[in-house]
Amino acid sequence: MTMKKWVYQFEDLDIAEQYVGGEWEAVRGLFGGKGANLAEMCRLGVPVPPGFTVTTEACNAYLDDGGVFPETMWEQVMDGMDALQKSTGKHFGDRDNPLLVSCRSGAKFSMPGMMDTVLNIGLNDTTVEGMIELTGDARFVHDSYRRLIQMFGGVVMGIDDDVFEEVIEKTKQMRGIETDTDLTAEDWQAVAKQFKKIFRSHTQVNFPQDPEEQLKMATEAVFKSWNGKRAVDYRNAAGIAHDLGTAVNIVTMVFGNMGDDCATGVAMTRHGSTGEPEIEGDYLINAQGEDVVAGIRMTHDIAQMKQEIPAAYDELKEIAAKLEQHYREMQDVEFTIEKGKLWMLQTRDGKRTAQAAVRIAVEMAQEGLISKKEAVLRVTPEQVDFFLHPQFDPAAIAQAHGRGDMVAKGLNVSPGAACGVVAFDADLAEAWAKQDQKPVIMVRPETKPDDVHGMLAAQGILTSRGGRTSHAALVARQFGKPAVVGVAALNIDMVKREMTVGDLLIQEGDEISIDGNTGEVFVGRLETMVPDIQDPWLIQLLSWADEFRTLGVWANADYPEDAQRAREYGAQGIGLCRSEHMFFETERLPLFQKMIMADLSVDRREALAGLLPFQREDFAGLFRVMDGLPVIIRLIDPPLHEFLPDLIELMQELTDLKLRIRKAATLTEIDGLLQQLRIKERIRERALALREQNPMLGLRGVRLGIHIPDLTRMQVRAIFEAACKVSKEGITVLPKIMIPLTGHHNELKVQREALEEEAKRVMAEQKSEIDYKFGTMIELPRAALTADQIAVHAEFFSYGTNDLTQTTYGISRDDAEAGFLIEYMELGILPDNPFATLDKDGVAQLMQIGITKGREVKPDLECGICGEHGGDPQSVALCHTMGLNYVSCSPFRVPIARLAAAHAALKSDLK
Ligand code: ADP
Ligand code: MG
Ligand code: MG
Repeated sequence: MTMKKWVYQFEDLDIAEQYVGGEWEAVRGLFGGKGANLAEMCRLGVPVPPGFTVTTEACNAYLDDGGVFPETMWEQVMDGMDALQKSTGKHFGDRDNPLLVSCRSGAKFSMPGMMDTVLNIGLNDTTVEGMIELTGDARFVHDSYRRLIQMFGGVVMGIDDDVFEEVIEKTKQMRGIETDTDLTAEDWQAVAKQFKKIFRSHTQVNFPQDPEEQLKMATEAVFKSWNGKRAVDYRNAAGIAHDLGTAVNIVTMVFGNMGDDCATGVAMTRHGSTGEPEIEGDYLINAQGEDVVAGIRMTHDIAQMKQEIPAAYDELKEIAAKLEQHYREMQDVEFTIEKGKLWMLQTRDGKRTAQAAVRIAVEMAQEGLISKKEAVLRVTPEQVDFFLHPQFDPAAIAQAHGRGDMVAKGLNVSPGAACGVVAFDADLAEAWAKQDQKPVIMVRPETKPDDVHGMLAAQGILTSRGGRTSHAALVARQFGKPAVVGVAALNIDMVKREMTVGDLLIQEGDEISIDGNTGEVFVGRLETMVPDIQDPWLIQLLSWADEFRTLGVWANADYPEDAQRAREYGAQGIGLCRSEHMFFETERLPLFQKMIMADLSVDRREALAGLLPFQREDFAGLFRVMDGLPVIIRLIDPPLHEFLPDLIELMQELTDLKLRIRKAATLTEIDGLLQQLRIKERIRERALALREQNPMLGLRGVRLGIHIPDLTRMQVRAIFEAACKVSKEGITVLPKIMIPLTGHHNELKVQREALEEEAKRVMAEQKSEIDYKFGTMIELPRAALTADQIAVHAEFFSYGTNDLTQTTYGISRDDAEAGFLIEYMELGILPDNPFATLDKDGVAQLMQIGITKGREVKPDLECGICGEHGGDPQSVALCHTMGLNYVSCSPFRVPIARLAAAHAALKSDLK
């Protein structure tokens, strides 16, 4: 029987590859991301301290077995330690030449700061002495020892870190110094001594002196940390499976705290916030690992390293390039410099903002590192969405500066604009945001892993400490929250729950605004606006996306300015112009109401004649903007009562008028009021007559056109008069007239015949030929099911998936979305809101039937979608698979849909 292998040296990567079948993802599953990448760096010849990995399988076996190491695992760890002793020439627990190691967690997916690591394992009262003799640096050794006790106390025994930090703070105060580096050997020795006392008083046992016991307890603690609350919460938020387990990496210690030719730092191979192809990072001279990320000391910008430790800087740059070449991705690395020698301690794909993601993908493709297809696939539609997210209006920023409302500036680590009330802790932030629906800015000196729930609930994050790679920055970027960190000018008083900047006082609950693009902090609320997408890399990426997609992207736009924006964003047509929107405008509403109120057809025609020039100009404006691209105009759709005042309001007005008549003083006054009363009463009568039990299933859409033929005829006249006029200006006009809510093919037949006649009449009058089409919306189940009959009378189909979802589910959207639908999603009865994401099994099936049947009659029948689903990436993918010709969505979603359509095409190619 062969023994199960639980432990792999970093050099054993190929054995592990064989075991899992060669797949890199499977290696990552077995070693965790950190372990797999350490082994990979080793293979690439990048300097990594000797070490080995205890697999995630061991962790799972340990947890499954209720906390017992699987058979032979510990023996294998000890063999691993033997190998380290051989390669380093040092011995674990040996007084004269001790080997020290770190014990590091590392799961398949990076969970920054969620699980635990213990450094300097192997130090005890005896080896400390040997180390001092060996290095001649007592300060360094005592500092390392106190770190071990502190981390071990925290990670293994659960002692609150603040208890330890307080001792350091007090020592510094006593000695009248500011930074840790100014503490002497004696200071650290005293600190270590106090730490041991704290350890004993909190745990009732002495700090373990046996290195093997230290290692064993640390390993168990790392295994257990997989199921710690922090880690579980994080996995829930990030959608990571709970059964993956963590690996443990045991790595020979290298020291960044042995003097001024030592340092430790973190870096990204390209800027995580802008994507600029330059190394970005922070480091500290004479410090150990945790110091940089913890945000407790003011770090230095990596650019400074070029001067301070030039040789190591150059090597780091070289390694960064090598890692990027290998991983074909931007990397986030941890390193330590011991006596001038650079060691790499970690690499992983770097987190980045949406802006950076786009720039990096495009530039990597331009550098030839990845293909254009890969670049397109590396940016998610959601990331494109960030470009269209609110930003502060530049005018508002200028005004705020003028007023002196810009009170502080920090690091711009995650872009976007956020306003909200200040909350100083995660629980309060969450409570205010969720229960009170209040926008919140979470403000902390620095954030920790247990703050994540508050950060997720907040609009934005502000911290007074920490750098570009701090916890707050990483989490904010990952979840797309605007964030400003390291605002040194902020003095946060957690006891009084207030903060000051100079002599300005901001209390919890006060409103502030933060600008994640510039790092500026403002008091009060600033106006936000949606930016133009002029980012050159985004433009490039989207043009590549256009090369790959087969699905068209059109826009829903009612007005020329919307159409203009849609065109700028890349729309290839207008898929839906809601012609009735124009009737709601102040000048036109009275005319439209007059049309509704008319008892005689002459009166009605007169009112419609008054509306005609308005409609004509509206359509002409659209046609001009969309020169050369199709414009689908949907004829009037909503029930008429929507154009009349609300009945309840009318009743109140009537009562009011009657009161005023009673109190009126003069006859003329009474006359005037009476006349008003009569008009209102007629409106009320008409509104009552038009009232329906289920207006959304009532007299609307094509039914209305059949009921009042003059109305849709006027609209068609307006469309064709506008088309003829604009076409004479030399513009290419491609109008498509869409008849809504067809349920039976005869409805369409009757309406289309009447309307096409009118269209021909106008063209004859104008002596002009227009390239036009008549089509219909498919938004009732019956229409989808009888699409073959309907297709006889339609030259195109457009799926109105809002109505189709309502009628398929039998759910009234407006009522349900404010009510039981929320409950349904909370209970998991529905996975998604069907009005946001197309229902694949129901609604999409009807669509598919409609497409198939329609194209049986007319093989080239153009089919599109104009419901809101057209801008939802998941629904766009479905539309691609169903063989639609295009999706039409709001102008703001056009760039997202372009990318989503490219993803759908590329992913279906891969299948
Ligand atoms: P995390 O996943 O929280 O980053 P790590 O295991 O990477 O935890 O370790 C925490 C810190 O300790 C990092 O800064 C890392 O570089 C440092 N570190 C870990 N192992 C060693 C080692 N063997 N020598 C020196 N520094 C180390
Ligand atoms: Mg790390
Ligand atoms: Mg509809």
